Amino acid sequence: MIAATPVAGGEKAPTLLADGFDFPVGKPDGDGYYKARGYRPNGHLGEDWNGKRGGDSDLGDPVYACGNGAVVFAENFGRGWGNVVIIRHVYEEGGTQKYVDSLYGHLGAIMVRYGIHVRRGQQIGTIGTGGGLYDAHLHFEIRKDLRVGMARHRFPHDDRTYWSPTDFIAARRTLTASAKSAMIPIFTFVPYKETTPVAAPDKRKPGLSVPGPGG
Ligand SMILES: [Zn+2]
Repeated sequence: MIAATPVAGGEKAPTLLADGFDFPVGKPDGDGYYKARGYRPNGHLGEDWNGKRGGDSDLGDPVYACGNGAVVFAENFGRGWGNVVIIRHVYEEGGTQKYVDSLYGHLGAIMVRYGIHVRRGQQIGTIGTGGGLYDAHLHFEIRKDLRVGMARHRFPHDDRTYWSPTDFIAARRTLTASAKSAMIPIFTFVPYKETTPVAAPDKRKPGLSVPGPGG
């Protein structure tokens, strides 16, 4: 594993360029699992993945990084989330570099820590219950907007902020990568506690723009 390289006070850091995306359970295709709840804008902002064996039979099953990237969040957030991991990915598409965050919620164990780099298919945790709040399942999101972090209430609950995880992955199972690594924006999450909603990113700009302080 490559050493953590967050740049103090900086805005970018290198990580492994994503060469494709897999499903986060039953890798690489989700074999043995099904979506108990799908992605719905202004409803469920991710997908709930459960084991086909039913009940809590999937408790403790491995959860995998859906692509190469860097861990930008790994802690118990409480608030109905329990243990959460967020991985930031950079990939090449249409001649430009694009970014997404993948989020893995209600984990039993967290097996990574902030700042490390992970590879597609690497185990990052286990399926859990959010600390006993739910039947065991994985809540999985893919975000277009790198500012969201745990502050979902501050951003539009729709396609401006989120991808349908299955649609995103299915369209990007194999990607060409011109290098082993690339730069990602870091320190982009907005504070949780501010209540003012944040505007959606400007669609006219290519790729995703990350505003500087006060932006
Ligand atoms: Zn869910």
